[in-house]
Amino acid sequence: MGLAILWTEKGPRNFWRFVMAVPKRRVSNARQGNRRSHQHVKPKQITYCNRCGSESLPHTVCWNCGWSNSQNREVVAMQTEEE
Ligand SMILES: [Zn+2]
Repeated sequence: MGLAILWTEKGPRNFWRFVMAVPKRRVSNARQGNRRSHQHVKPKQITYCNRCGSESLPHTVCWNCGWSNSQNREVVAMQTEEE
């Protein structure tokens, strides 16, 4: 296609400036599958607290009891219920 001129009230305009980009060929099922083969979520690595056994992320303090597996001590002192 050569230069297509679109004549408007304001003067000549290039027709292809107003046409959106369209893919040249359809994407085959195999190519679509190859692209989507990376679209998955990896499972989270979890560890278990050495003191209370609840699951937590590695290198973090236990949410339940404040124990740190890597430092082998209670890092966060848990509040006792006071009435
Ligand atoms: Zn714990």
